[in-house]
Amino acid sequence: MAATRFAAVLERARGLGRAVGAFTCYDLEGFEAVAGSAEAQGAPAIVLISPSSFAAPGGRRLARAFVAMATEASVDLLVQLDHVSDRDQIERAADAGLDAVMADGSKLDYEQNVEFTRTVAGSLRPRGVAVEAELGRVEGHEDRAGPVASGELTDPAQAREFAERTGVDCLAVAIGNVHGHYSGTPRLDFDRLEAITGTPPLSLHGASGLPEPALRRAVALGVAKVNVNTELRAAYFGALRANVDATEEGLDLKALGEATVAAVARVVDSKLAAFGWAPEELRRSA
Ligand SMILES: [Zn+2]
Repeated sequence: MAATRFAAVLERARGLGRAVGAFTCYDLEGFEAVAGSAEAQGAPAIVLISPSSFAAPGGRRLARAFVAMATEASVDLLVQLDHVSDRDQIERAADAGLDAVMADGSKLDYEQNVEFTRTVAGSLRPRGVAVEAELGRVEGHEDRAGPVASGELTDPAQAREFAERTGVDCLAVAIGNVHGHYSGTPRLDFDRLEAITGTPPLSLHGASGLPEPALRRAVALGVAKVNVNTELRAAYFGALRANVDATEEGLDLKALGEATVAAVARVVDSKLAAFGWAPEELRRSA
């Protein structure tokens, strides 16, 4: 049996040839979009909290709200603190009841990354909190979009050794993927991905802007978790822009919120479908 609920959900998805969608949520509207879409498609999902959200005033409250709301969902809904390297923040995330942290040691050299990840996993996993790590370097900024070129790619042999030495539940790979907007046409190194695939389940960050066939191929090759952020924010901003004038006269915040939830949910729907969850007929019209 998997040591953590997070690992069990990823392993079940991988067994089905599917991937769990992980979606960054900055507020309750974002959460509602992810939860509603996941429930409609009967798919598990991961709600990601960015480290800047978590560290901000009210961040811990937001995290606890997400955890409480996730227990109400009719599907497996997990909450993860994304890209954190600060040990205090990692401990605070575990204390707040989150299901997982992405312990990001990718800026460290290899041995330091092993030591950092091994220590975090040793502390958190016995408490049921899963640990995802990163090997290689996924470039770009998680909260702001900008053109990005890919960073240092994950070495397959090193990935196997890293997983054995650290005992992580999930490993984020760098195979040409970036955070934010791709500068030029994205090119994923599928041969490299195929060579890395094995235990533990792999995650692919920076899925915004990757064409659907590339996402499907990555999932078919064993990626069990895919992170999406930029496209959700673009849909959110687009809905605000399109609806703010119509709702401003009555100061109708509820209608504005509903428009943003619907726009973000459409993106989540299409990603979950690409990750193998939704039959075509269940897709909402865009
Ligand atoms: Zn990421």
